[in-house]
Amino acid sequence: MNDRKKMTILYIIVSFILIVLLITAAIIINNSTSATPTINVENNRITKIVKSDTLSEIVYKASNEIYKGPGITPDKIAYITIDDGPSKYTNEILDTLNKNNVNATFFMINGNMKAHPEEVKRIIKDGNTAGFHSVSHDIHKLYQSPEATVEEFDTCNDTLYKISGETSKIIRLPYGSKPYAPEESYNKLIDNGYLIWDWNLDTEDWRSTKDQIISNILYYGRDKKEIVILMHEKEQSAKALNNIILILKERGYKILPVTNHDNPKNFWERNLK
Ligand SMILES: [Zn+2]
Repeated sequence: MNDRKKMTILYIIVSFILIVLLITAAIIINNSTSATPTINVENNRITKIVKSDTLSEIVYKASNEIYKGPGITPDKIAYITIDDGPSKYTNEILDTLNKNNVNATFFMINGNMKAHPEEVKRIIKDGNTAGFHSVSHDIHKLYQSPEATVEEFDTCNDTLYKISGETSKIIRLPYGSKPYAPEESYNKLIDNGYLIWDWNLDTEDWRSTKDQIISNILYYGRDKKEIVILMHEKEQSAKALNNIILILKERGYKILPVTNHDNPKNFWERNLK
């Protein structure tokens, strides 16, 4: 074999090795850019849930692009909290909670409890937590003095007792405990045994469509171990609730009502992440 032939054979072998290396590299790159099977399965399930009725492109995208969390892990807790009721939507909300075998926390306004006593009774009978959300829902009245603050919640408690025979110390301040509540009012509530709850996931449901609410849950809830979800008794919120519950379950959350034994989570305590 002359040198020229040797060079040709060497050239062929080197070319072959290079081609094999290139193909292998292409396969590796292709695999690493597509999602892992676990995330695909999870995404497919969530997509199926949110697409089970009419749903905007936004939500579909959100479920595919945003959810990159790990698989189901224990001790992920979600508290569904619903403000401003009871209302004409309470029964629909309760039906949805029952259908999914979960409970929520209702932060109720005094006048609405009086207007909807049957709903108040049903909230409790179905295993949900009754909480209060003031009499006036007006920060100027509520924070006139620390005494006025406590009095509004004591009034709520009297109303609940008259309707149901139950009492509660679990409350949510209108518009949250910060920045509106003065320190004196906050401390006075604590001194009187009230357990003040804020939230770390605002669904912005009062100004959103059903699909936007679901999208907000998908987006803002993506990295949280514990979620306190803020909702209101609105038509679109009641309609979104079923999908919200399914998504939370799919993501491995245990859905629980707030209880007297839970350490209250609020903006003063800075224990909401
Ligand atoms: Zn409110």
